[in-house]
Amino acid sequence: MPKISLTYKKSGVDIDKADAFVEAIKPLAYATRRPEVMAGIGGFGALCRLPQKKYKKPVVATFIGGKKALSGVTLLAKKNIPVYEFPNQAVAALSALYKYVSNKNKQKSMGSEQYKKIVVNIKEYNNFKNIFKIEKEQGRFQMSLKNSLEILKAYELPCVESFFAESAQDVEKINFEYPLAAKIDSQDVVHKSDINAVVVNIKNKDEAKVAFASIQKNVFSRLPQAKVAGVVFQPMAEGFEVICGARRDPQFGPVVLAGIGGIYAEVFNDVSLRLAPVSRSDARELLSELHSYSILKGMRGKPSYDMESLVDIINKLSQIMIDFPEIMEIDLNPVMVGEAREGAKIVDFRIVF
Ligand code: ADP
Ligand code: MG
Repeated sequence: MPKISLTYKKSGVDIDKADAFVEAIKPLAYATRRPEVMAGIGGFGALCRLPQKKYKKPVVATFIGGKKALSGVTLLAKKNIPVYEFPNQAVAALSALYKYVSNKNKQKSMGSEQYKKIVVNIKEYNNFKNIFKIEKEQGRFQMSLKNSLEILKAYELPCVESFFAESAQDVEKINFEYPLAAKIDSQDVVHKSDINAVVVNIKNKDEAKVAFASIQKNVFSRLPQAKVAGVVFQPMAEGFEVICGARRDPQFGPVVLAGIGGIYAEVFNDVSLRLAPVSRSDARELLSELHSYSILKGMRGKPSYDMESLVDIINKLSQIMIDFPEIMEIDLNPVMVGEAREGAKIVDFRIVF
């Protein structure tokens, strides 16, 4: 996503109010060593400042010329005009600015029928806020699986059932139907399977006990300093693997994304995104942009998947990001989507703050 130069923050143009329409893309100045051209750049700076100040129109500039153009670039930077190395970057920045303003306007006009606001119980909300505060003070950046699950459940997100075993004795208390998956719950582990901290297809209690011990052992040998809360057991979920997530962009704020998950995620890099708030119809549009949309819709006699359950997840992720400015990132990977009307199950969840 193109980033608007921070310069705009200082330029005096209120980009929230600015009409994102740009009257003209100013001609490119090709810098040479000739002083009169450099003087021309100075004049260009003044020219740019005028529409920016008087008409509140955003202006961006492009100088091709590397080091030769440096004095011109410095001059414009002093006048708080963003300068880009290539025209495509400047146009991308204007396009991003336009989208930002449109989205801000949409946020104001979005009707309640479009956007289901889930009001979390205020006590619960303050409790989550407090957890973020304490964890941050302790220098942590990632929520435990247990706390992540609590937040997602408060928004009625369809997480797979999870049993948190702190000790080997706890494993006796599991009463899910087999097969199960087991994984480490540690705030210091980012990719669990990378350190052999996930076991799938556990068929019985004996295997569950073995998994509990081996997961703890693997984490301890690979990350001896990691603070471990325990091991989580979950029923094995089935479906088409999708990624849903959200990031907080320093310029644009919360961005929600969805894409193909599982083993093909890195091969196809099929992800689409939207700025929050993301209404249900935005979420449908987002999904329709994916290359894997035809798979989700059902192709060549194959069943269609429960797209509405993904719409619901995307819509709620957007709400969580708005409600909790502390959250920097949410990764739901994978989400197992069932066939039409069967729903989806979120099997892995990560909240970064
Ligand atoms: P990480 O992404 O941190 O390695 P995951 O919890 O995503 O850990 O587990 C890795 C993989 O194991 C998942 O991508 C998924 O294929 C499989 N898996 C994990 N939990 C389950 C589950 N409950 N049901 C089915 N498959 C699972
Ligand atoms: Mg995962």
